Amino acid sequence: GILRRFAVHQRTWWFAVSAFVLGLLGTTLGGVLANMVDVPASGLMFAGGLFAIGMVMSRMPLTMLGYCGGLTVGMFFVTHALFMQLILLPLFGCILLVGIAASRLDFALGRARWAAEYAAQRPRRLIQELESNGTGWFWETDRRGRILYISPKISKAVCGNATGLIGKPLQTIAAEQDSNGSSPMGERTIGFYMSTKSAFTDVQIRGACEEDQWWSISGRPVMDQYDQVRGFIGTGSDLTERRRSEAEVSRLARFDPLTGLANRAEIGNVLAQALKSASATPRPAALLLIDLDRFKNVNDTLGHPAGDELLKQMSRRLSNVVGTSGQVGRLGGDEFNVVLPGLFGRGQIGSLAKAIIESVSRPYVIDGTQVSIGASIGIAIAPDDGRNSDDLTRNADLALYAAKESGRGVHIFYESSMHSSADRRRLLEQHLTEALATTGLRLVYQPVVTVKTERVAGFEALLRWYHPEHGQVSPSEFIPLAEESSLIEKIGVWVLRTACTEAAQWPIPARIAINVSPIQFANPAFPTLVAQVLAQTGLEPARLELEITEGVFVSDHLHAEKQFETLKRVGVRLALDDFGTGYSSLAYLQRAPFDKIKIDQSFVRGATIGQNRNGAIIRSIVTLAETLGMETTAEGAETEDEIELIRELGCSHIQGYFYGPPIEADELGRRLKSEGQEPQRQGHKVSRSPRYRVLRLASMTSPNGSHNIRLRNISVSGALIEFERTLTAGCAIAIYIPDGPVLKGKVVWVENTQAGIAWDQEIDLGWINQPVRRAS
Ligand code: C2E
Ligand code: MG
Ligand code: MG
Repeated sequence: GILRRFAVHQRTWWFAVSAFVLGLLGTTLGGVLANMVDVPASGLMFAGGLFAIGMVMSRMPLTMLGYCGGLTVGMFFVTHALFMQLILLPLFGCILLVGIAASRLDFALGRARWAAEYAAQRPRRLIQELESNGTGWFWETDRRGRILYISPKISKAVCGNATGLIGKPLQTIAAEQDSNGSSPMGERTIGFYMSTKSAFTDVQIRGACEEDQWWSISGRPVMDQYDQVRGFIGTGSDLTERRRSEAEVSRLARFDPLTGLANRAEIGNVLAQALKSASATPRPAALLLIDLDRFKNVNDTLGHPAGDELLKQMSRRLSNVVGTSGQVGRLGGDEFNVVLPGLFGRGQIGSLAKAIIESVSRPYVIDGTQVSIGASIGIAIAPDDGRNSDDLTRNADLALYAAKESGRGVHIFYESSMHSSADRRRLLEQHLTEALATTGLRLVYQPVVTVKTERVAGFEALLRWYHPEHGQVSPSEFIPLAEESSLIEKIGVWVLRTACTEAAQWPIPARIAINVSPIQFANPAFPTLVAQVLAQTGLEPARLELEITEGVFVSDHLHAEKQFETLKRVGVRLALDDFGTGYSSLAYLQRAPFDKIKIDQSFVRGATIGQNRNGAIIRSIVTLAETLGMETTAEGAETEDEIELIRELGCSHIQGYFYGPPIEADELGRRLKSEGQEPQRQGHKVSRSPRYRVLRLASMTSPNGSHNIRLRNISVSGALIEFERTLTAGCAIAIYIPDGPVLKGKVVWVENTQAGIAWDQEIDLGWINQPVRRAS
C-alpha cells in the first residue's frame, strides 16, 4: 500500500537501496557463520545461496545491482581468504556490469511508461479542469436523449446534486420560459434536434435553475459500427456573463447614463416606431420638446455636480408626470423630449405640458441650497404637423423657439406661420452680418429735452438698418436677433464708437445716450472698452449716458453690481431704460447707482386717459427717483396733453416725437449750428392724434407697375390705402401725392382692396393742410 504512493522510478530506487543493505548483511552473516562452523564448504554454499538470491532479482536490474554491491562490499569485511576474493570478485564484477546496463535500460523504460501513463490521463485532467473552473461542460445521452453523463456543476445548478439528472431527458436543463416571458425557444429546439437525430450547434437556452443562467449547447449523434445512433454527445458553455455584458452595452448605447432616460438615438427610434404604420399615413403621435430655462445659471453658480443633480431630480419629476402615456428622452444638455404615441386631443396634450412645466418649476434642494428653474415646451402633432420624425422634430423646435420668445415658462403648439418667421429670421441674421460689414447700419439721434428750461439736454442714439429688400427694419426686431448670435457684441462696439465720435464733434456739450444690450453689459471687458473709446474720441465721460434695461439683473446680480461700480469709476452716466415694462422692481433702483430712470412710453401713453392709474405710478416713480438723486425721463411724449401732464408729474426730462423724431447725423449737425439747444417743437398747440383720416388720390409705383390709389388715413409711420390692382405684402412702393411729398415705404399687409403701408422713415405731416378728421 505504502509503495503505491511512490512513482515507479522512486520504487526502483527504494528496492535497490534495500537490496544493497540485504547483500551487505548477507555476506557479513555468511562470513561470521563460516568462521564459526569453520567448514570451508559451508562458506562456499552460503556464497552460492547469496548468488542465487541475486539471480532471482535479475528481473529488477537496479535492485540486483544494489544487492551485488552490498555483497561485494560486505565480503571485503568478512573474508580474508585471497582465494575467495579471487573467485567472487570477478563474479560480482560481471553481475555488476550486467546490472548497470540492465538497470539503465529498465530505468529508461520505467520513465517512458510513466510519461505515457501521464499523457494518457491528459484528456481527463483537461476535462476536469474545464468542468470545474472554466465556462465549458459536457454531456452525453442515450439513443432516446436521456442523460448518461453531464458535468456535475450543471447537474448541481439544475437539481442540486451531481448525479440527479442521470436518466432524465436533456431538455430538462432548459427553462420552460425565457426570463422575459418570450417563447421557450431553447427547450423546443433541443427536443427537435434529438428527435430528428441531427447535430446542432450553439442553441441558446436559459438554464432551468433558480438564478438567471444562460447556456449555449452543441451536440451530435454518436453512431455505432452498424450506423445506428447510439446516443448523443456534446458540450455546453456558459453565456450568462456574455449576455449580461451585451445587455449592459446595449443599455449604455440606448440610455443616458446621468438620468437613465432614453438618449437621443433611442428616443428617435421610439418616435419613428410611434409614427410607423402599415399604411401610407403615419399613425398619430405628439412630440413635446422641452428646454429648461435658467439652467445655465445653476451650472455657472453652483457648479456642474449641482447641475447634474438638478437634471437627475428634474428627470424623475418629468418621468412621473408623463407616466405610462409616453416615453421621455434626454436630447443632451438641458433639452428633453416626450413622445406620446397614439391619438391625444390638443386639450389633453396642453394639460400634460402644463403639468410638466408646473412640476419642473417647483423648487429643488441641492446640497442644502434651494434652486429653481423653469421650462418651455414646443409641441408638434403627427400627422398634421409632420409625417416623419424629421419634420415633426423641426416643427416642434420652431414651436419651442416661439415658446421661449414669448417669455418662457409656456407651451406652444406648432403653427405653419412659424415657418415663414423662422425663415425670415434666418435671412435677416445673414443680412445683418453683411450690413455690419458694409456699414449698412447708421445711427439717428433723438433729442431729450429738459422740462424746466425746455432746452435740449442731449440726444439718444438709435440704431437704423435699411435693408435693400425688407426696407427699414426696426431695432426692436433685429436687436433681439443679434443678441442670439455674437453679432450684438460687434454691433455694440460699432454703435459706441460711432456715437462717441459724432458727439465729440458737436458744437455744444450735449449728452449722448446709447443703448447697451444686457449681453454686451455682461462682458467683463465692457468697462475697458468704454474707457478706450472715450480716450480715443476725446469725449468727456460725463457726457456719455449708457442706457441699460432690467435684463442686466436677471442673470447675475453680483456681476452686474461690479460692472456698475467699474463704469462709475470710468465716469460715465447710467440710465435705467424702459422702466415699467419688465419686472420693474424698485429693488434695482436701490442696488445700482443709476443717474436716470427712463419711464417707458407705454406708461406715458395711458397717463392722459381719464381714470388711468399710470399718472399716479409715474408720480411715485418720480418721487422715489428724486429721493435717490436720480433724474427721470418720460419717453414717447407725442402730444401737448402728454407734455403738460409730464410737467405736472415732475419728470425732469422728456423725449418724444413732440420734440422731434430721431434725425440723421448730418441734419443734427446742421440744426445744432443754427438753433443750438433750442428744440424743434412739432408746433401743434392742439393734441395731435397719431393717425389722420384723409381721402386723397395719389399715384403709386410698385413692382407691378404704376397706378392710382386712394389714401385713406396716414400717420408719421404708415398709411392705409385702397387700390384696384394686385399688390403683394413685403414689396417696396413709392407714393406720389399731388402738391405733396414722395413717400417711400413697403406693403405690410394686403386685404382685398386695402393695404397697410409702413414708411421707410418717419415722415413729416405738415403738408396735410386741408381740414382733417381724427380717425376712429
Ligand atoms: P428705446 O431705447 O426705449 O428707444 C426709444 C424708442 O422709442 C425708439 O424706437 C424711438 O424711436 C421711439 N420713440 C421715441 N419717441 C417716440 C414717440 O413719441 N412715439 C413713439 N411711438 N415712439 C417714440 P426705436 O428707434 O425703434 O428703438 C427701439 C428700441 O430698440 C429702443 O428702445 C432700444 O431698446 C433698441 N435700440 C435702438 N438702438 C439700439 C442700439 O444701438 N443698441 C441696442 N442694444 N438697442 C437699441
Ligand atoms: Mg433707450
Ligand atoms: Mg426706452
